[in-house]
Amino acid sequence: MPKLLLATNNAGKRREYIMLLGNVPFQLTTPAEEGKEIDVDEVGATFEENAILKATVFASQCNLLTLADDSGLEVDALGGEPGVLSARYTGKHASDKERVAYLLSKLRDVPWEKRTARFRCVIALAHPLGTLQLCEGECCGIITFEPRGDQGFGYDPIFYIPDVGKVMAELSLDEKNKVSHRGKAAQKARHVLHHLSQETSHEWSF
Ligand code: IMP
Repeated sequence: MPKLLLATNNAGKRREYIMLLGNVPFQLTTPAEEGKEIDVDEVGATFEENAILKATVFASQCNLLTLADDSGLEVDALGGEPGVLSARYTGKHASDKERVAYLLSKLRDVPWEKRTARFRCVIALAHPLGTLQLCEGECCGIITFEPRGDQGFGYDPIFYIPDVGKVMAELSLDEKNKVSHRGKAAQKARHVLHHLSQETSHEWSF
């Protein structure tokens, strides 16, 4: 089976992708398994730019078909913040707990009906020969007043999904994948990967 490189050093995302891509006709691998240590500065202004940047750098350095994503939280009352800065909202070395506390402090005076937000995920599939495909997903919700639940990672404890009646951190991985931004983007990526695996040439284009 051909290999598909998951270009992420985030353990939470890696767990989710292994489950989301379980049945694709590719052997999933990681930079660590390929003996590579690659760190790409996410300098893009959009999720799309960062996903493309990561996918193309990892693909060319490992010479493998590569899946990279960029994702984050957009809060309407904060003009779309933290957006592409989601992972670094209070500095690069802060914990998820600190980021959640900081976001809640910024929304202290914002009433429930104005706490609307969305998670967005853009997946880039890049081939070392230079071809590229993007897949997007989003999940709408409301930022709670306090954290709840102990599943997931990042902002999951304060992201309430009205359709489900729970915050993301109260969902099992399986439940989260059915409704999440990453789950939706990955569903599109699965179609692309199945299509790709049927092509005889590696010089695929879209
Ligand atoms: P990146 O995609 O690795 O650049 O980081 C995205 C950041 O957005 C994560 O570190 C989290 O803070 C946040 N984020 C993205 N997806 C999720 C999610 O599914 N749950 C909670 N937080 C998320």
